[in-house]
Amino acid sequence: YITKPFSQPIVELRVKNHLELKQQRDLLAHLSSHDCLTGISNRSKFDEFYKDEWLRGLRDKNPLSLILIDIDFFKKYNDFYGHIAGDECLIKVAQTIKNSLARSVDLAARYGGEEFAIILPRCQKDTVAAIAKHIQIKINNMPFTDIGLPSDFRISVSQGIACEFNNQYRTSEALICAADTALYRAKTEGRNKISISA
Ligand code: GH3
Ligand code: MG
Ligand code: MG
Repeated sequence: YITKPFSQPIVELRVKNHLELKQQRDLLAHLSSHDCLTGISNRSKFDEFYKDEWLRGLRDKNPLSLILIDIDFFKKYNDFYGHIAGDECLIKVAQTIKNSLARSVDLAARYGGEEFAIILPRCQKDTVAAIAKHIQIKINNMPFTDIGLPSDFRISVSQGIACEFNNQYRTSEALICAADTALYRAKTEGRNKISISA
């Protein structure tokens, strides 16, 4: 509150202080929910969003789908091109994944080092599979010439999909586990593959 009579310099100072506080609060909120390297949502945001969407899906009897994405042979990439090029690659992959989502209700997050996760509420299996295919093609065709790599350089990702519908998985952890098992299968089937949990 501001007491009367007004002192213009004090009012200006207080407005300035409050604007700064608001900016700092917004920045803090952004930093706590976003990955500082790639700029997309971080693991903490993923966990919070996933828990909320799991409960909402149960309540509304709507499907909830998950895609886990892991860059193939990324250790080799780092070893060969260096950690800085590796970081640039992570940024490009993250942006490609994020740009592949058309709905504002979907969330793409950095799940771990070179792993990403997408939460798709109210999305059927065939649509999820089509999105994963789109991501696969986009990443296979991602140009690297801007970071000095040859024009024919390609990277790939492996993807595991699981969809919850009709209380098939019972717990939110079980759905993640199913997507992780599918991802593992995509890896063992030769990488650059998409595997869908039954
Ligand atoms: P796979 O096809 O089985 O997934 O093989 P991979 O080499 O991708 O898997 P692995 O788990 O052996 O290696 C992951 C690599 O990701 C190792 C680690 O250095 C790299 N990595 C994780 N986080 C970052 C990061 O923030 N920046 C960079 N440049 N590299 C990272
Ligand atoms: Mg990995
Ligand atoms: Mg990997």
